[in-house]
Amino acid sequence: MSDRDTSRVPPEPQAEEQGESSEDPKVYPVYVYERTCQDIFGYCLREAQRRPPHEALGVILGFRRQWQGTKYVRVTDWATGRVESSMAYARFTPEGVLEYRLALHDRYGTNPHTPRVIGLWHSHPFGGNPQFSSTDFNTFFRTPFCAEGNVFFLIDPLSRFFKVYMLRLSSEKEVLQLERVEWCTYRPKVPFGTMPSEEIDDSREGGADRA
Ligand SMILES: [Zn+2]
Repeated sequence: MSDRDTSRVPPEPQAEEQGESSEDPKVYPVYVYERTCQDIFGYCLREAQRRPPHEALGVILGFRRQWQGTKYVRVTDWATGRVESSMAYARFTPEGVLEYRLALHDRYGTNPHTPRVIGLWHSHPFGGNPQFSSTDFNTFFRTPFCAEGNVFFLIDPLSRFFKVYMLRLSSEKEVLQLERVEWCTYRPKVPFGTMPSEEIDDSREGGADRA
């Protein structure tokens, strides 16, 4: 365990979003919106408290970003759908894939500036130090998840492990490798009083739910 263990929940450093004037130049490979982290963890915990415990599974949404030449990922949201699962297994059913895609469409519509699916999270509810299985590796290194900058969370809610991994190019930039990375949670800083006004374009909606 390192001096600053970032594997457990709640994770330690409450880093601010990297802004224009950064006093701390450290750029973490992965930033997870605090609420998203708590929600995913809570979901895994509920599934782990079933008798018998069940694995939980979902997709990670976010953005690939760059700060002064250093690439990082900002995780902003998550989704899930119907899953076939047991204590040691979890897989989306075809309906489950449709469910999370529809949920995301409902949340974000077709706006191109919305977070993308950039990985998967799942739990191993054994109460230990979780490790990926060979099935996990097969999933991550296949389409659609095998891409540079994609992230994967491995959670054991019973022992409160929350590990973050990322697919990165090797130093020779030839092979993608799955690396465990440092991460932190963030809360968006809202500059109260200087918020730009937001416009919501409802013109294409039927207006059925509008008062
Ligand atoms: Zn697994």
